[in-house]
Amino acid sequence: MDKRVKAVIFDWAGTTIDYGCFAPIKGFIDGFKSIGIDISNEMARKPMGLLKLDHTRAIAAMLPEPVTEQQILRAYETFEETLFANLEQHCDVKDYVIETVASLRARGIRIGSTTGYTSEMMNGILHKVSAQGYSPDYWISADKTAKGRPYPYMIWNNLMHFGISDSREAVKVGDTCTDILEGKNANCWTVGIIMGSSELGLTRREVSALSKNELEERKAIVRASYYKAGADYIIDDMNELLDVITDIDRKLNQNAARKLLTPGPLTTRYSVKHAMLTDHCTWDDEYKAITTSVIKDITHISANDDYTTVLLQGSGTYAVETMINTLCRKDEKILFLVNGEYGKRMLTIADKSGKDYTYLSFDMTQPVNVKAVEKELQKHKQDISVVAFVHCETTTGIINPVEELTKLCKSYGKKVLVDAMSSFGAYDIDMPSLDIDALASSANKCLEGLPGLAFVVVKKTLLETSSGNSSSHSLDLFDQYKCFCETNGKFRFTSPTNILLALRQAIDDYKMEGGLKARKKRYMENHKVLLQELEELGIKSIIAPENQSYIITTFELGNLDFFALYQSLKSKGFVIYPGKLTSRPTFRLGNIGDVYPEDMVALADAIKELYRF
Ligand SMILES: *Cc1c(COP(=O)(O)O)cnc(C)c1O
Repeated sequence: MDKRVKAVIFDWAGTTIDYGCFAPIKGFIDGFKSIGIDISNEMARKPMGLLKLDHTRAIAAMLPEPVTEQQILRAYETFEETLFANLEQHCDVKDYVIETVASLRARGIRIGSTTGYTSEMMNGILHKVSAQGYSPDYWISADKTAKGRPYPYMIWNNLMHFGISDSREAVKVGDTCTDILEGKNANCWTVGIIMGSSELGLTRREVSALSKNELEERKAIVRASYYKAGADYIIDDMNELLDVITDIDRKLNQNAARKLLTPGPLTTRYSVKHAMLTDHCTWDDEYKAITTSVIKDITHISANDDYTTVLLQGSGTYAVETMINTLCRKDEKILFLVNGEYGKRMLTIADKSGKDYTYLSFDMTQPVNVKAVEKELQKHKQDISVVAFVHCETTTGIINPVEELTKLCKSYGKKVLVDAMSSFGAYDIDMPSLDIDALASSANKCLEGLPGLAFVVVKKTLLETSSGNSSSHSLDLFDQYKCFCETNGKFRFTSPTNILLALRQAIDDYKMEGGLKARKKRYMENHKVLLQELEELGIKSIIAPENQSYIITTFELGNLDFFALYQSLKSKGFVIYPGKLTSRPTFRLGNIGDVYPEDMVALADAIKELYRF
């Protein structure tokens, strides 16, 4: 569904009326004078934005001497007297407000408002303001809600009135930091206005008396305080607001909910993204404990305590490279089994890191042939020390026989390294009973975390004898492991802290769903429905069912144009993946991530609609 800005909620004094927000200032000064206390202009202005009684209390709290509740109420009474006497002289509508409101309405945007004035004060000014041509569709004062700013209740009242369910479709515009905080608490977009604001606190005459430089300096101070308060946008004048709304619409559209039907990055849960909101330090004890818990949990998905997990900054390839570079010695020859791009990538890695290797190449549409591997191992019994291959070849979606291959290699006493990037967490890979030495995977595949963090699950005895093997400083599994051990879970070099927190959450969600069993079941169901639905449209998969993974599938593109298909499906909320087969035109669909059988049906419906099958 299309998201767009549906309401702009303005503050009143200092934002849409009363240039500089001067109406209340004299009131507060008079109010405190009536209880024998002199306050400065600046002090009177500081809490601006709050409900006026709260504002009075906030001034009292700033005073060196204690003020009783009775005195506060007396000061407030005098404040009201002065304010009411003054109010009507401070109803001038600010520059560009009338035109901007008209343009907003022309875009179908509702005009709401919240205020620090009481309802009685508002009733005193509304007619004066509307006589000048400004009357919002809704207003509410904090005396009608349980609390005033910075509580979000007045904004919520506006949203209720307009029937808006997503607070990200509303924008709060104000002239104080309290306005910005109110907007943030309501989870709206926030805009701070500089000219004529309470934060600037200048009359028009004072503004024109300033030199250009002096004015810029004063404006910069206001800008800095809005920035610190967390404003999403800062504008000089109201005539800039339309561009802001256009930009927010663009962001809402760009970030529209989408299903990524790719093998990573994936569609992730809100909880996973939300977990990133806390900032941590690499060396902080609490953070290190989280890191350690992630290491333990990943290890236990496919292995036991004879194994450990070494986390690595970077994408999945970083883990594959670090694994090969560190776990193979210079005097060991590696046999790579290649039936796709990721297998080929391992050859490049071996080349770059100066490892001795050989390889067997297979047809991309066929799994690695165990018989052929056995022949090769027989031929080069002494020569080969390590065998490395990809479990699920994401290039096509083919699944290689990891158990048979491992058993065979182990019967020849070889070390076994597996790229289990796209299968880890969704396929049973019993590392200890198969005696797999190491596997590489990443956060953003079947664990459904975010990209930027990869890992190698590795036999401790092997890892502990791998010092000095790697030809790279940063891609050294042993040194990385040593650092985690010696520091109780500190990353060597800067940790992707927020991504790790997201992975922690992703693993919690994985457990909550029911672990490997439940995730596997969901993916299998997704895959089954996907295949059925597309088959009905005459779109055929390439890989034979017995070799096909339930992770990613290659389909024949036929007469369809990939780019056109991609663009149209994206506009309907689905992101697909190009094919990698050189022999014929194909495309790929992943069914992992936060996606469900009904998403597969919806995708098929979208394709049907596009091509009127
Ligand atoms: C995703 C993937 C990788 C890693 O690719 P990056 O782009 O580095 O994350 C490696 N091997 C396989 C089989 C994969 O699916």
